[in-house]
Amino acid sequence: MDGTFNENDISRIVEADKAHVWHHLIQHKAFETNDPRIILEGKGMRVWDQNGKEYLDAVSGGVWTVNVGYGRESIAKAVYDQLMKLCYFAQSAGSIPGSLFSEKLISKMPGMSRVYYTNSGSEANEKAFKMIRQIAHKKYDGKKHKILYRDRDYHGGTLATMSAGGQDERVMQYGPLAPGFVRVPHCMEYRAQWDLSGEEYGQRAADAIEEVILAEGPDTVGGLCLEPVTAGGGVITPPPGYWERVQEICKKYDVLLHIDEVVCGIGRTGTWFGYQQYGIKPDFVTMAKGVASGYAAIACCVTTEEVFEMFKDDASDPMNYFRDISTFGGCTAGPAAALENMRIIEDENLLENTVNMGERMMGNLQALMDKHKVIGDVRGKGLFLGAELVADRASKEPVSEKEIAQVSAECGAQGVIIGASNRSVPGLNNVLCFSPALIATADDIDQITDTVDRALTKVFG
Ligand code: PMP
Repeated sequence: MDGTFNENDISRIVEADKAHVWHHLIQHKAFETNDPRIILEGKGMRVWDQNGKEYLDAVSGGVWTVNVGYGRESIAKAVYDQLMKLCYFAQSAGSIPGSLFSEKLISKMPGMSRVYYTNSGSEANEKAFKMIRQIAHKKYDGKKHKILYRDRDYHGGTLATMSAGGQDERVMQYGPLAPGFVRVPHCMEYRAQWDLSGEEYGQRAADAIEEVILAEGPDTVGGLCLEPVTAGGGVITPPPGYWERVQEICKKYDVLLHIDEVVCGIGRTGTWFGYQQYGIKPDFVTMAKGVASGYAAIACCVTTEEVFEMFKDDASDPMNYFRDISTFGGCTAGPAAALENMRIIEDENLLENTVNMGERMMGNLQALMDKHKVIGDVRGKGLFLGAELVADRASKEPVSEKEIAQVSAECGAQGVIIGASNRSVPGLNNVLCFSPALIATADDIDQITDTVDRALTKVFG
């Protein structure tokens, strides 16, 4: 094979994929009986596969990424122009899009100040972990080095982020993991761990974090890393009162608060960042997926000026600066695409659309609950929603993995790609996930929920 491709020769693409591509998060045995899905093209909310089948993409590229939709010529042009001017230079120097995007981003993040460029969400999270560790060494003789993470939250696939991984099924068989990461309980009221509700539940779930800090020793805990709304762990929205108490606890014990906005960041929940809906003042905010809507790889670890100041060189400590590099953090395509992505979100009022369409979708899903007893709970924020399927509403016994897969396959057969987590964690992964692009129209939303309605009828009657 010489690398050229005749547009009509799709079978060659499928064969090359089956022979050489190792797909993400897939048991490849499946491809012995079915061909992998190959997405050839996308426009707006829709994509087309190798069989010419059209799908409405209800998950923004599968994993909450293509926030402004496919086929945006203005982003492609911004990237093209930038690449012709300067494709890359190591981030020890600056660049035009690096400066302009950081200025624009920080203008939407009151209280935050500095942008550290990297290439993936995992890597951005690792940078925050490293900064927290280095602060522990600089200020506390290395003692305050432990980082807390929450059950069901996910922060990435590298060894350190897996060590902060709250989803056991993603971590098993990859140990030994890195030391110094400690788990705190999740805050999911639907599957309550405490016999409380509403604000009282939120306060209690946050108090559980304080209990862990006290058990570990406050002088050993340096950071707390949380998703504003837990994504892959089951679309878990925080109960009222939770975040206020979390912030108080961090302050009380001098624990740096790291918010992982890899999914929620750049509009997904209807505000620029998910944390902004809860009045939180973070020390670190990490982001990736929606930053450039997938048009280029870019991720960032954003800090306050206070954090940044701690890394300024001083004569007494020549090793004081952040001794870290990320080669592709110097790719200029990322910030060039990201800047244009933000312009689109502003000019097309996509935050407002996200709130309106999110409300519509939530209403539609709640209406489906009346019809389908199999829906035990619907939850989410903006265009980031989930429907948890249970065999019995009283016991909350989850439906089987097979049934979740059937619902997802049925939606696909009817032309809508939804997210369905069928890994086997009872109660938390039996969730249908919806995260359409922020450009979704009322018709798109209704098409998604009508399709889910038909798929549920087909699978559960
Ligand atoms: N944090 C969260 C909340 C995520 O959902 C993900 C990816 N699904 C990551 C971090 C890791 O991002 P990446 O895959 O870009 O490394």
